[in-house]
Amino acid sequence: MKERKLLMIPGPIEFAPEVMQAMGTAPTSHVAPNFIEVFGQALERMREVFLCPSGQPFIMAGSGTLAMDIAASNLIELGDKALVVNTGHFSDRCVDVLERYGAVVTQVNAPAVGGAPTLEEVEAALKENNYKVMTITHVDTSTAVGADVKGFARLGRENGALVIVDGVCAVASEEMRMEEWGIDVSLTASQKGIGVPPGLALVMASPKAMDAFKNRKTPVGSYYADWTEWLPIMEGYESRQPRYFGTPAVNLVWALNISLGQILEEGMDNRFARHCRYSEAFKAAITALGMKQVPVSSDNEATTLTAPYYPNGVDSGVLKYVEEAGVILAGGLHPAINTKYFRVGHMGVVSTSDILATVGAIEKGLSQVGYKFEPGAGLAAAQASLRDGKGV
Ligand code: PMP
Repeated sequence: MKERKLLMIPGPIEFAPEVMQAMGTAPTSHVAPNFIEVFGQALERMREVFLCPSGQPFIMAGSGTLAMDIAASNLIELGDKALVVNTGHFSDRCVDVLERYGAVVTQVNAPAVGGAPTLEEVEAALKENNYKVMTITHVDTSTAVGADVKGFARLGRENGALVIVDGVCAVASEEMRMEEWGIDVSLTASQKGIGVPPGLALVMASPKAMDAFKNRKTPVGSYYADWTEWLPIMEGYESRQPRYFGTPAVNLVWALNISLGQILEEGMDNRFARHCRYSEAFKAAITALGMKQVPVSSDNEATTLTAPYYPNGVDSGVLKYVEEAGVILAGGLHPAINTKYFRVGHMGVVSTSDILATVGAIEKGLSQVGYKFEPGAGLAAAQASLRDGKGV
C-alpha cells in the first residue's frame, strides 16, 4: 500500500517530480557557470509568470513574510501613509509589517469575516488622503477570500498610490496581470502556486516602485532586505555575471527555474483556467455535501483554496479521518472562527484525480464521524462540474 499521503493544504503544496529532482542537484558553487545560467533564466522567467515585462524581479532566501518585509522596508519611510484593503489575517499582517517601518496605516475592513470591502469603500478611502502605498491581499489564505485585484489596483493607481499585492496564495494560479493591471509590487513565496518547496521570497517591482525606492530620503531600515544590496545581485545574475551579497539558496533556485519553465509551458491563461475549473468542481462537491464556505459571496471566492465550514455536529476531529483516508487538509486559521472551518488547497500541479481523491476522503471522514449525507453526492457534483465546465 502507498504510504505517502496527498498534501492538499494551502501551501506547501504537492511538487512536480522534476522540481524535487532539481532540489537534489549535485552541490555547486553559487558562482559556478551552470548556476549563473539557472539564476539568470529564473529571473527572466519570473517576468513572464508575473506578466510584467518591465518589472524588476528579486529572488531571495526566505518565506512569504520576508517578501512582505522586502516590499515594506524598501518602499516605506517614517510617516508615509498606507491604505490596507483588509480581507483577513494576512491583511492584518500587512498592517503590522507596514507599521514596523513607520507607515501610518488606514484600513478598509470587510463588513464581516469572509467578506471584502467594496470598490466604492476603497475609492472613498483613497480620496480622503494622499496614500503613498495601498496593499491588497490577493487571496487571504485565512478566509479563502479572493480580492478584486484588478478593480482595487485601478483605483489605487488612479489615486496616485503605489499598489502592492500580497500574492503569496495567488501568484501563478489566480489570474494576475501585473503590468496590464498597473500593480507596482507583486510578492509571493515558493511553496504555493509557484510549486517549489518553502524557502524563497519572490518579489516583482514595477519601474514606478523602483523609482520610489531610488528616491528615498532615508536608508532602508532592514539590512537583509535592502534593495540597495540586492538590485546589483539580480542585475548581475541576469546579465550572467555573478555577484555576492548573501549566499543564494542554490538548490531552491534550481528548482524554481524548473517549475517556472513548467508553468510557462502550460501557459498562463491555461493555468488560470485550470485553477478556476478545479476550484469550481471542488466547491460544487462541498455544496453538495451540505457545507457552506467562509467567503460570504461566490464573487469573492479564491480559486486556489476552499474554506468550508464544518457541517452541524462535525468538528476538526474529522480531519484525522480524512488523513487516514489518505489526504492531508488544514484546519481553520482566522482567529475569529478557527475552530469552525477547514481549508483545502488546490493549486499548482493539482490534477483531476487529486480533486476526486480529496472529495472521496472527505466523504469517508464525514461518514466516520456520523454525518448524514447521500454517499457519493460530493463526488457526483465534482464529476458533473468537471464534465460540464469549460476551460481545461
Ligand atoms: N500572505 C499570505 C496571503 C499567505 O498565505 C502567507 C502564508 N500562508 C503569507 C503571507 C506568509 O507567508 P510565509 O508563511 O511563507 O511566511
